[in-house]
Amino acid sequence: RSGYIALVGRPNVGKSTLLNRILGQKISITCKKPQTTRHQILGIHTDQTTQAIFVDTPGMHLATGDRDRAINHYMNDAASRALKDVDLVIFLIDRTKWTDEDDLVLKRLQYVKCPVILAINKVDWLEDKASLLPYIEEVSQKFAFEQIIPISAKQGTQVDELITQATSRL
Ligand code: GDP
Ligand code: MG
Repeated sequence: RSGYIALVGRPNVGKSTLLNRILGQKISITCKKPQTTRHQILGIHTDQTTQAIFVDTPGMHLATGDRDRAINHYMNDAASRALKDVDLVIFLIDRTKWTDEDDLVLKRLQYVKCPVILAINKVDWLEDKASLLPYIEEVSQKFAFEQIIPISAKQGTQVDELITQATSRL
């Protein structure tokens, strides 16, 4: 199994922390799928059966101000097209609340055909894990997520589970 995984989410949500946690060894690319020029390879995760190539998606970088609306529109299209070239999307959000910036990320996922897994990050901050349940209920209404997985990228909690679920869909 092999494939491209896009890791998306607003700034500061923990994408780099998660990547660092997932990656580890440097291993050369032996992916049989043709390399897309639309993406920058950020890292590769391999185990006995799977090779997951994590890519950055141009256009996912958000512009929120009015001034940026035109460029935002263009980037939106670019991001939508680029996301068509990936096999799976991991969409990272924070455990506290859904924000306008999360909405902007979600907009870019509207035409994606591949599975989208929602990962709720930084759950190590939660004192009361039960408070996640209404939040999961709320965010599950926003999109047909393949799965919703609470994680802590920093502490590594449920990151193996996220990888297992993601790679099993490649
Ligand atoms: P990015 O902008 O999405 O790449 O976010 P970063 O990976 O740079 O993380 C932003 C900040 O959140 C950093 O200070 C991280 O240490 C922190 N952070 C990321 N993941 C977690 C987590 O699971 N728990 C906690 N407590 N902090 C986290
Ligand atoms: Mg980052």
